[in-house]
Amino acid sequence: QKQVWAKLKDEPSISADGTQVELVANIGTPNDIEGVLNNGGEGVGLYRTEFLYMGKSELPTEDEQFEAYKSVLEQMKDKPVVVRTLDIGGDKELDYLDLPEEMNPFLGFRAIRLCLERDDIFRTQLRALLRASTFGNLKIMFPMIATLDEFRAAKTMLLEEKDRLTNDGVEVSNDIEIGIMVEIPSTAVIARQFAKEVDFFSIGTNDLIQYTLAADRMNERVSYLYQPYHPAILNLVHNVIEAAHAEGKWAGMCGEMAGDSIAIPILLGLGLDEFSMSATSILPARTQIRDLNKEELASFKEQLLGMNTANEVEAFIRAKTNQ
Ligand code: PEP
Ligand code: MG
Repeated sequence: QKQVWAKLKDEPSISADGTQVELVANIGTPNDIEGVLNNGGEGVGLYRTEFLYMGKSELPTEDEQFEAYKSVLEQMKDKPVVVRTLDIGGDKELDYLDLPEEMNPFLGFRAIRLCLERDDIFRTQLRALLRASTFGNLKIMFPMIATLDEFRAAKTMLLEEKDRLTNDGVEVSNDIEIGIMVEIPSTAVIARQFAKEVDFFSIGTNDLIQYTLAADRMNERVSYLYQPYHPAILNLVHNVIEAAHAEGKWAGMCGEMAGDSIAIPILLGLGLDEFSMSATSILPARTQIRDLNKEELASFKEQLLGMNTANEVEAFIRAKTNQ
């Protein structure tokens, strides 16, 4: 099996009937890039920048961040690298920020909400990213976007910092795509409106599932409700992909679901363009996709979206794909 996978390291991720997708990796530090390249990753679909901020006693400086982003971009050459801006809060705490305890941290002051208020922290990160942008193919992604106003505010800050750097004579890339994570149901529901303003979507199913089914992703007692194949999730994912394509944008997924062998045929049929997963899942996923028939899977779309339960969806896909 390992040998079969290894042969596909430099091959395209293409279905048996000729639809090409991108298989990219989730990373947390520049040290992860070696594993991405060794496993045939076609890019980075999610660089979780939280680790730069964690396990230390103060905020990382602009230069510290610049070096990390530059290193990732350089190692990936011209391959796409999607960097997610700071997603702290929820299960990820920072002692030195001294934030008050909350009743519902996952519904609280986290990610873009914190960044828009603490724009000193946010702008430092944006400047580091912009300075690094000339070293590779950078795309910037905002986490936990619930409203268009949040996206617009974040984008405005990014463009302000870009102008500031340019005025100071610092070179900044002019073709940085700016996208969002779709991990809150409100955003998935009005993806059509978002698609007019963002350059891309990346669906964060880890959070989207917990928010859609109202089941804490860390709570074992309600884990039975954490259902990636729930028809509600499939309908939201479908809505996001359709919205993106209607505006000529691309849609990816960077939650765990993107690397799951039951989900992959569903997502391919729904037209997902980019699948971001842990590096070690890439070659198995490529092997699977090369045996799948995209048009056949697409023909099951209405049937799948109309199903009643996650079990029904899973049984159907298992039968169709011999799993
Ligand atoms: C997600 O929510 O699916 C995601 C990729 O982000 P994280 O797991 O870091 O919350
Ligand atoms: Mg998330």
